[in-house]
Amino acid sequence: MDQRETIQDREWVKLRNQLRDNERIWSGFREIEVRMIGSNSLTDLAGVITEGIPETFSGIDCVTIACVDPEYEMTRLIDAGIESGLKQNCFVAIPRETLNEMFARPWRPRLGPVDAHLHSLLFSNNPCASGSVAIAPLIRRGELIGSLNQGSHDPKHFMPGIATDLLEHLAAVAALCIDNAVNHERLKLDGLTDPLTGVSNRRFFERRLAEEIERWARQAGPLVCMLADVDFFKQVNDQYGHQVGDRVLRQIASILGQDLRGSDVLARYGGEEFVLLLPDTTQVQGAAIAERLRANVEHSAFIIPEGVDLDVTVSIGLVCLEPGVDTYGPDPAAWLFQQVDAALYEAKQTGRNRVVHAHPQ
Ligand code: GH3
Ligand code: MG
Ligand code: MG
Repeated sequence: MDQRETIQDREWVKLRNQLRDNERIWSGFREIEVRMIGSNSLTDLAGVITEGIPETFSGIDCVTIACVDPEYEMTRLIDAGIESGLKQNCFVAIPRETLNEMFARPWRPRLGPVDAHLHSLLFSNNPCASGSVAIAPLIRRGELIGSLNQGSHDPKHFMPGIATDLLEHLAAVAALCIDNAVNHERLKLDGLTDPLTGVSNRRFFERRLAEEIERWARQAGPLVCMLADVDFFKQVNDQYGHQVGDRVLRQIASILGQDLRGSDVLARYGGEEFVLLLPDTTQVQGAAIAERLRANVEHSAFIIPEGVDLDVTVSIGLVCLEPGVDTYGPDPAAWLFQQVDAALYEAKQTGRNRVVHAHPQ
């Protein structure tokens, strides 16, 4: 009788422990889910996923996110997060073909040991993921956008065949939150500031150009516009990677922005093109400023992580709207931009690293 009671007691204890474990796992999932939904930026979200999950669940030693990111949009945001404390290698920009090879339809999580290729790709060979892994597809609007990768030292932690419904749920919420965070960052990008360089963006420039043209038409002073384009910039990216390219762009923005007056506008017009608008500035004054900016870029040290000083130059097109002149046609803004663009083109054609003035017919 006593013995039977003991066995029954043990069963009860086991069941109770099992229930407690399940409750702990459930509340862990709920907590992570609430934190993911509440995160207010992509880097915040990446922190919750890659640091919150291992902190919340025992046996999970490292977590990474892999996403298709052809324009380095997410990579850039994550890099900024790493500078302010996010874990290195928590995010992988994965080629679409590789992702498609990782998951056959129907897209389901993969559990078990991982081969050397995936280990190095998804976990940067972090020994934390050397036992077993769970790689869950991130699916958004019926499209495979990436994977949520969890690694454990324990070879038995993620075994093929164990239930994956909670994991699939977690991955679904993660995919939704990642998509939202990226869209939110894009909205910010549609604001008036260029997020990479911190200078104004094209939209702001176009708004200010319209205002300045109106002022000019009311017989204000001359208006100078310059368009500066980095020479052979593609080579910087190709040779040293987009991060070095981004750094060069930031430095150029800072050089071009030195000594501007409050009424002047510097904007990133697109990729590696910057535009300047200088109200109440004559052609001669504008030419001197353009030449100074060109020389400042040429003589600045662009030191990259390898310690190399890159030779970076810009070509600049320049145009001036003179006051009281009415030969610019019905749309002076369009005229001005077409002229400055043609001048820049000529600067490129005639050797680069130079300033060319528009010479309207
Ligand atoms: P050119 O002297 O004729 O202007 O040559 P280029 O190489 O500068 O011109 P091209 O238009 O061939 O290449 C521009 C490059 O700028 C290609 C593109 O990848 C790069 N780029 C555009 N935007 C960014 C960005 O935000 N970051 C980085 N790193 N590169 C960018
Ligand atoms: Mg260009
Ligand atoms: Mg260029």
